[in-house]
Amino acid sequence: MDSRSNQVALVVEDSAVQRAHMVALVQSLQFGTVLEARDGVDALRVLDNYGKNQVYLVLTDLDMPGMDGIELIRHLGEHQLAENVIVTSARDPRLLEVIENMGSSDGRLHLLGTMLKPVALEDLTAMLKRVDQIKHAGMVAPDHVSFTLQELETALEQNQFTPYFQPKVAIASGVVNGVETLARWQHPIHGVLAPFHFIPSIEGTLLMAPFTLAIIDQALRQLNTWRRLGHYAITVSINLSAETLADSDFIGRVDALVNSHGAAPESLIWEVTETMVMSHLSECLANLARLRLKGYGLAMDDYGIGYSSMQQLSRCPFTELKIDRAFVYGAAERPNRRAILASSIEVGHRLGITTVAEGVESLLDWNVLQELSCDVAQGYLIAKPMPADEFPNWIRENRLRLRSLAASGASKRLHRPERSRTVGWQ
Ligand code: C2E
Ligand code: CA
Ligand code: CA
Repeated sequence: MDSRSNQVALVVEDSAVQRAHMVALVQSLQFGTVLEARDGVDALRVLDNYGKNQVYLVLTDLDMPGMDGIELIRHLGEHQLAENVIVTSARDPRLLEVIENMGSSDGRLHLLGTMLKPVALEDLTAMLKRVDQIKHAGMVAPDHVSFTLQELETALEQNQFTPYFQPKVAIASGVVNGVETLARWQHPIHGVLAPFHFIPSIEGTLLMAPFTLAIIDQALRQLNTWRRLGHYAITVSINLSAETLADSDFIGRVDALVNSHGAAPESLIWEVTETMVMSHLSECLANLARLRLKGYGLAMDDYGIGYSSMQQLSRCPFTELKIDRAFVYGAAERPNRRAILASSIEVGHRLGITTVAEGVESLLDWNVLQELSCDVAQGYLIAKPMPADEFPNWIRENRLRLRSLAASGASKRLHRPERSRTVGWQ
């Protein structure tokens, strides 16, 4: 973690009492310098006087006389005066939600999150810790790393692409009923790389088909291993890209591969994204129908992002609706997200298909999903994606915890409400 002693923070708040409280909090986090200001105009003056390069953190109120927090954030971003901002407010959570969406679209300034006042030390610590983790996480290679087709081809030949698995849990019972296969690159220099480092470079090239088959092949092997260990009821979900789904030959090869492993189509679920299906509806429909006829499960992934209508959805033979984490994460505190989440679950139920919420990170969001009768949850609250060999142990060690999560209906109200929220996804 960074040493804070050479970092500068600025607290912007019109109430003297709140300001003193927040300055004390930030000081207790060992920031080298803590500046303070009464409103936006005062903040810009203080920064100008301070004069050095960017401050690391600005903690600002929204509602202030003079220049308000929104205007201040705009200035900070435009003139690159700060690296990170946290917005504090006593206001309507809907307003904080708008601010979050505003901030995350500005690449120059990181809006870390919003917090309801009075700010608590543990929330502030958690938010800063998360930023440090993202910065230092081994999985995140430097942004500038990009790979040539030759490097990707070599990686494929040397079996460096491997599946991780993330559990999916039935919300009513806490039983693990499936896993999603998520590709990782065991890079000899950069360590374990997440898909966004390599899938965009593979997509649209001749490598996409062999890459996808390599992941499917390994996932099928795992499915067989888990069955031998007695996990019969586990389904394995696998992501397919638009180009592979639209290619009938490829679909035929996938089916042959599944047969060669002796796997039952019912134990596999193909995930395709909403935007991808809706933009190539006619090409995809035939192959989706073929897969469904053979008995495979089909999931519409990232649902909610593409705003497909229920009518469009009803034309595709999906068995599962995966609601995008953008509408799940923090839904407990954000009325807009919760509304979209509720209507997505309702659409799924009306069509008679399983609803899966992605990106479930907190108990509060889990509770909302319980209330809305969502079927399945997937997210860090349950587990992060893991290598295959960790899965049997993980199941053993988490069985009770998941059962009690499912039964948490009564005890959940005793839980302290989460008062802070972090913007965006790592
Ligand atoms: P996806 O299909 O939407 O997968 C879910 C992503 O959300 C995964 O990211 C997973 O690690 C992450 N995730 C799960 N729970 C949480 C949570 O609680 N909080 C947060 N912040 N994130 C969570 P990952 O593994 O980086 O994969 C990113 C995307 O790459 C996937 O999104 C999928 O579209 C694509 N992908 C992964 N593996 C494959 C593959 O084998 N083939 C294809 N075509 N695409 C793949
Ligand atoms: Ca997926
Ligand atoms: Ca998804």
